[in-house]
Amino acid sequence: MSTTAENAIVVENVTRKFGDFVALDRVNLLVKTGSIYGLLGPNGSGKSTLIRILCGLLAPSGGHASVLGLDVAKDGEEIRKNIGYMSQRFALYEDLTVAENLDFYGRIYGLTGARKKARRQAAIDLIHIGPYLNRRAGQLSGGWKQRLSLGAALMHEPRVIFLDEPTAGIDPVARRELWDLLFRLAANGITLLVTTHYMDEAERCGEVGYLYLSKMIVSGTPDSLKSLPAVNQPGLRRVEIETHRSAAAMAWLQTQAFCSDATIFGQNVHAVIDANLSDTDLADRLHDASFPQASARAIAPSLEDVFVTLTQQAAAKMELPAVRS
Ligand code: ADP
Ligand code: MG
Repeated sequence: MSTTAENAIVVENVTRKFGDFVALDRVNLLVKTGSIYGLLGPNGSGKSTLIRILCGLLAPSGGHASVLGLDVAKDGEEIRKNIGYMSQRFALYEDLTVAENLDFYGRIYGLTGARKKARRQAAIDLIHIGPYLNRRAGQLSGGWKQRLSLGAALMHEPRVIFLDEPTAGIDPVARRELWDLLFRLAANGITLLVTTHYMDEAERCGEVGYLYLSKMIVSGTPDSLKSLPAVNQPGLRRVEIETHRSAAAMAWLQTQAFCSDATIFGQNVHAVIDANLSDTDLADRLHDASFPQASARAIAPSLEDVFVTLTQQAAAKMELPAVRS
């Protein structure tokens, strides 16, 4: 049985229905205290619904969940005093300045006087937003808006933070900077649950889970997911093929009996082939098939491979079309 000291977030068989529609179907999840958990899944899979339940904003229809040992169904108010929530939609006041937004959130969390001032300064120092204190929030770039949202969510020193797609639509440098902040928070013992569509962000999480059609189809450390038997089927292996004509090579591979899957991955093709076909044999066949400079090398599955494979298998089991995020 999981202890709440070890796990800041415990979700057991949580179901949420909206009328006849099941938005979450018996979801289980444990998030270790001081870790970063990444929640992935296509749009509509239930990520935001789960976060709203964990913030005590929406009641589960079945099952049980707790945050910091507090029951989400009964102790919502107490939970909200101890958590920070960055919602998927920008929740700051565009007409207020950066400093005014931080003050406003401080007051919402009941901070006053010296404590509010100290917390505001701590937020400013963490997100390095000092130069923009008098700028209206609406005039900030996407990356700075997200940092300010994070600063606002941290005003009351929460021990758990929920971030719903915090890096959607911001540039790669701003994404990296926001992640550096998240790591700093985790290093200070804060627990973070982050939703994202970016695989590079998922790779940086201690554990990741994948929601698909309201079900948690897999959860674990990135390395453990990559070595799952379902992703590494006997008799098959994964290769990366480098060629100037990736799209044509992929199309050709898909017609070959030795190839059970081929997709474009960056500039290259990732394929799943018969295990007894060597890299050199594969390269020879590619050369014969008018890809003269193609080369092949064995690779481990990426997290994207893991999620695509498991989604296809789950869809086949449910007799539904696979949906890619
Ligand atoms: P995600 O965040 O993964 O994109 P959501 O949790 O926002 O998914 O939504 C999951 C599903 O639940 C969607 O089909 C959405 O339309 C539905 N849903 C969410 N909130 C409500 C609501 N208040 N009433 C009815 N349906 C809802
Ligand atoms: Mg969402």
